[in-house]
Amino acid sequence: MSTYDYDLFVIGAGSGGVRASRIAASHGAKVAVAEEYRVGGTCVIRGCVPKKMLVYGSMFAEELEHAANYGWTIGEASFDWGKLRDFVNADVDRIEALYGKTLDSHKVETFHERATVTGSHSVKLASGKEVTAKYILVATGGWPIMPDFPGCEHCITSNEIFHLPEQPKRLVIQGAGYIAMEFAGVFNALGSHVTVVNRSETILRHYDEGIVERLLHIAMMRGIDFHMHCTIKSVEKQADGSLLVDTGKGDPVHADQVLFATGRKPNTAGLGLENAGIELGENGEIPVDDYNQTACDSIYAVGDVTDRIQLTPVAIREGHAFADSVFGGNKRKVSYDNVPSAVFSQPPLAGVGLTEAKARAIYGNVKVYTSEFRPMKNIFSDAPERGLYKMIVDEASDKILGIHLIGPEAPEILQVAAIALTAGLTKQAFDDTVALHPSMAEELVLLR
Ligand code: NDP
Repeated sequence: MSTYDYDLFVIGAGSGGVRASRIAASHGAKVAVAEEYRVGGTCVIRGCVPKKMLVYGSMFAEELEHAANYGWTIGEASFDWGKLRDFVNADVDRIEALYGKTLDSHKVETFHERATVTGSHSVKLASGKEVTAKYILVATGGWPIMPDFPGCEHCITSNEIFHLPEQPKRLVIQGAGYIAMEFAGVFNALGSHVTVVNRSETILRHYDEGIVERLLHIAMMRGIDFHMHCTIKSVEKQADGSLLVDTGKGDPVHADQVLFATGRKPNTAGLGLENAGIELGENGEIPVDDYNQTACDSIYAVGDVTDRIQLTPVAIREGHAFADSVFGGNKRKVSYDNVPSAVFSQPPLAGVGLTEAKARAIYGNVKVYTSEFRPMKNIFSDAPERGLYKMIVDEASDKILGIHLIGPEAPEILQVAAIALTAGLTKQAFDDTVALHPSMAEELVLLR
């Protein structure tokens, strides 16, 4: 008989926490999870899932334009933000319910309240109930950073953007990372005027330079304004409810909404980790070892709260590896090599492995193969936009070091290409593969 109430108590029912709970339970552990907001976490409730649906919704604008080039006559089209928003949020409710069912079907007890750590084996729920567990897993994710400046209370983050009462006619976005470039694409496509304010001239810093330059060029051609080398100094609410944004450079910008997308911070405030002897890192993250174990042997942490790679599939892998290691008799680490990622900008971009700059710095002699092409679907349209594919290859071994794509469906194509890097394939393997014609992906096997 265990002396604890549970074998595992998970704090946070997001991607990492739910996966860990389910797998630990399937290994026979008695599991409980506490979630103070909604089951599903950032990805399901206010991240990847609703964002991707907004991207799909916004892309119809371009599709409708293209349709005319293919002989379709379409009556006057109009867009209703409220409808799209409500459809998306209804689907979020549906997926949240599915996540709840998964926990129930694995006999994971769910507490819909905040939990804090009170010791190495104990947590306290908001209701005052204290429970004990042999292991505690912290999977509380992250939270958008909102700096403090005059008028910051008038600004929103990605948390609020899914619930806007109206589509902003003018949207100003601070930051030029994932969230900024994705929402810039969505609202630009929907007809809003978008201004991106960025502290440097680099967008999407960790992606391949050639690929992001292409995105920047296309985004500007599509009408997105970029104010580089500045940050928002103040936001003033006007009598008509609109906002006046001062970037300290040039005239103030008029806006209906101001979105801050300047990174996310681990959700550790007030979690009580000090009660278990755990010291937080510089960004408030929970330091963990390769097995996601903290400085306290009985407490583990996975996902964004550890501030390593802030991506859902990584959190899921960490949660799964933790549960297998601790409850499944299969101690294993997560590999962080060749993690593919994508930005659902318009057009989207995706990459895996080393960028050209990093590959040159590490390997010295690298071969860079590129293909620029006009997506066939756009052939009848006026848009001169071209896709760009890059493959970075180690000259000595012919091994592929990185693949970077921008163009329609780039994330779908990249996911498959990422297998090549994981398998350690050479460029020759791509050369030996027969092209599938006509497709965009065939460019990858035709690089010479
Ligand atoms: P990012 O780290 O992607 O981008 C942050 C942006 O804000 C950068 O342009 C950065 O500039 C700028 N910035 C940072 N601090 C400041 C500051 N103090 N003042 C002005 N500008 C600043 O963060 P996001 O918020 O866009 O997204 C958070 C994380 O969520 C991402 O890192 C990603 O891991 C995840 N995410 C993943 C998605 C996907 O997989 N498609 C989609 C959305 C989010 P600089 O480059 O100079 O540092």
